[in-house]
Formats: sequence, structure tokens, C-alpha cells
Amino acid sequence: MKKSFIQFPVIALAASAMVLAACSNDEEPTADKKAATEQTSEETPTDNGTEETPEQQPAEPEVERDAGGYIIDQAPATAVKKVDGIVIANKRYPMPGDYAPGESADARAAFAKLNAAAQQAGYTFNAFSTYRSYDRQTELYNNYVAKDGQEAADRYSARPGFSEHQTGLAFDIGETSNPNDYASNRFGETAAGKWLAENAHDYGFIMRYPDGKEEVTGYMYESWHFRYVGNDIATEIYNNDSTLEEYLGVEG
Ligand SMILES: [Zn+2]
Repeated sequence: MKKSFIQFPVIALAASAMVLAACSNDEEPTADKKAATEQTSEETPTDNGTEETPEQQPAEPEVERDAGGYIIDQAPATAVKKVDGIVIANKRYPMPGDYAPGESADARAAFAKLNAAAQQAGYTFNAFSTYRSYDRQTELYNNYVAKDGQEAADRYSARPGFSEHQTGLAFDIGETSNPNDYASNRFGETAAGKWLAENAHDYGFIMRYPDGKEEVTGYMYESWHFRYVGNDIATEIYNNDSTLEEYLGVEG
């Protein structure tokens, strides 16, 4: 197992392993999302005995996380976090409630190209959930909390302001002929899901929450959740078996 680029406090590591789905979908979460994945123990990269500790300054201040992986007492966001013009939305970097860009036209156009190529290969995709407003996410999350309690809801639904779907750049993708596998990791096991995982970067999309990157992204594997970042960045992230957090050098 590779060491992750970003080292997390143990509490965050434990918390993130408990958190399941990054995106609450309009659909009920499916049972297979609830399976926990293995956690790897992180190695300590520094020697303790030396007087001079390498200046491995984290770019961001240490933060305490709650059981859901969220920062305790975090002030509401006043701006969207961008690094080199790239929007990042995760548990570390929420969005203001009034951030409402709608679905990205660039992402939609890229998805159309992706789908045209997929059809040549015999698959037809549906982006079954893309842009979701802050208010819509609030409604979804509150419904889940009312139904299952907050602790359980935090495991599969993003809190309002924290869903990447609010950026308009996240596309939940499934095979049109197979809606039963929407928002399920069964999708990743299908030929269509494998095709998408291997080809999405050519159209500017990355699988946002890859398997084994929970400690980096803050979310467990989601074979259906893709994020539009443009071809160059998507290809670099794909080729390096990386994540958006690692590419931008930010925490999840
Ligand atoms: Zn999603």
C-alpha cells in the first residue's frame, strides 16, 4: 500500500474510514455502501531522535474533526476554495450557502463526448445526479437525519455546503440500462463501470473517490461519482493514480 501524500491525524483517519458515501443521492443508499473498507496504518515518516526536525510544515493549520470527519466548530464558508483556479469542495473546504453555479456547461459538454465514445464501445451512460443546490442538499440531509439519525446520515450523505455536487462539476454516472446499480459500487464491477474508470480522464473527468484513498479524500470508494477537471488535469491524476486533493496539495 502506498503512503498517502497527505498525512492525517489519526482521529480524522478513523473518522474518514467510518464515512461512507460522499454524495447523498436522491436515491436511498444501497446496502453494499455500508461495508467498511480496511484501514491501513500510517507510518511515521520522521525520526524522533534528531534535533533538527525537517520543516514539514503542513500548508494548513491542524484541525480537529468530529466523528463524521468534519472540522469541529468550523465557521461557515465565505468563499469557495480554489487552487490555481480549480474549485475544491470537501470536508475541509465547504462552500457558502449562496454558491449556486448550476450545472457546469463544460462538464455537460464533456459528458456528451464521453457518452458518444462510450456508445461506440457499447455502453450508454446517464448522469443521474449532477448539480444540487445548497437548499436541495439541506433537504436531503435533513431527511436522512430524521430517518436514520445524524451519525448514520453522516456516513452516506454530505452535510449542506459540503457536497461536491454543489459545485456543478460532479456527475454521478451510471449505465442507462442498469439503474439498479446507480449509486452502488456494483457499478464499478460492471463492464460499463470499468470502461468509465479507464476512459473518463480522456474527457476531463476523474473518479473522485477512488478505492483506497479514503484517508486523502475523506470519503470511501464511489465508483459512480466523477468530477470534471478538464483533460490535462484529469489525465495527470489518472496516470499518477492520484486524487484531486493530492494534485492540488490540500487536505480532504
Ligand atoms: Zn456523487
